[in-house]
Amino acid sequence: MAEIITRSEEAIDLENMYGAHNYHPLPVVLSKGDGVFVWDVEGKKYYDFLSAYSAVNQGHCHPKIIDTLTEQARKLTLTSRAFYNDVLGPYEKFITSYFGFDKILPMNTGAEGVETALKICRKWAYERRNIPENEARIIVCENNFHGRTTTVISFSNDPDARKNFGPYTPGFMKVPYNDLSALEEALKQENVAGFLVEPIQGEAGVFVPDDEYISEAARLCRKHDVLFIADEIQTGIARTGSLLRVCGDCSCENKCEQQDTYTKPDMLILGKALSGGAYPVSAVLADDEIMDVIKPGQHGSTFGGNPLGSAVAMTALEVIYDEKLIQNARQLGNVFRERMQKLVESTELLSLVRGKGLLNAVVINDSPESTTAWDMCVALKDNGLLAKPTHGNIIRFAPPLVITEDQLHDCCDIIEKTVKEFSR
Ligand SMILES: *Cc1c(COP(=O)(O)O)cnc(C)c1O
Repeated sequence: MAEIITRSEEAIDLENMYGAHNYHPLPVVLSKGDGVFVWDVEGKKYYDFLSAYSAVNQGHCHPKIIDTLTEQARKLTLTSRAFYNDVLGPYEKFITSYFGFDKILPMNTGAEGVETALKICRKWAYERRNIPENEARIIVCENNFHGRTTTVISFSNDPDARKNFGPYTPGFMKVPYNDLSALEEALKQENVAGFLVEPIQGEAGVFVPDDEYISEAARLCRKHDVLFIADEIQTGIARTGSLLRVCGDCSCENKCEQQDTYTKPDMLILGKALSGGAYPVSAVLADDEIMDVIKPGQHGSTFGGNPLGSAVAMTALEVIYDEKLIQNARQLGNVFRERMQKLVESTELLSLVRGKGLLNAVVINDSPESTTAWDMCVALKDNGLLAKPTHGNIIRFAPPLVITEDQLHDCCDIIEKTVKEFSR
């Protein structure tokens, strides 16, 4: 039996001693979560404004999701795909109709979802577009974040993510984000098979592109017979005030295909909130003419499509509509940005607030090399709110979408108070 942790320092010491130092966490040790709140081992309560990088959109330990998890865990957890199981089929029917695609390929983590989409894209290029073997190229954006596998970091331009992890996987070309003419130039080059993009760049600091960027990018891809691949691992599943960010500014509960703001990707990658944070579940969705390139034995994962993850994902998606989280994210996102805008105008310390729905960031008026964002996150923690800097001068604010308006105002008060302490 593991030792019982009663003080934060004990847990921090153990992680430092026995864990690889591949993260630099804020000094807080959490032991309980419920909805928008988490508690540390000393019993102090915090608002969670990171939501596990938008994996717990439905709130911590959502009772319905946990019920499904525990019930399914008692029945059957894993069979591998060597056999059929009685949850995967119903899940596949459910999620394809939920998002409007013919087929799903189920995986576990986000990076695996991205890898899956890249492999399908390449195979499609050779078998449907007759691109010469090993010549397919995929366009990505500068400052992208798509995960941590060797191939995915091959097209990162973050030195920390890349340096000394080569040799890199070839076959990728980079264009600036939110630049349609650069994309069009790249699309005109030979053997281009796909364009992989985040509809909002989350890790880069919540960069929201121009309104028409996504729909125009998809149109250009179609014109050049290139697959438009949307990585909605962070932006999807109600986070930005629509079901997916590719829905545009539409918060309907209907099938998005009926809305003229909707841009249907050729492939959609989901993860994170697909399980509400209860279990790693990711997915690639596509229509038959694309997904059909994958035949038995050509791709897979021992845990992908397991009955536990499949059951959890269905409930996690049901909660989104049952609790009107799309509408809540949209409404409270406006409230949040309005209050932050006032704060930005009242202090030299902050330069701007940006975002969509409840995926927002505040940019601090200091250099990206400064520690101001980190220091401010430590102060926010002391005042009862957890957020994490992305780069030295940006703080992302992304609470669980179950937050109420009163709670959100309470949080804005905490942020205001903390910033004012800093301005003195
Ligand atoms: C988090 C994230 C990933 C990677 O997901 P993991 O589950 O950490 O592998 C990929 N793309 C985007 C946009 C993400 O935010």
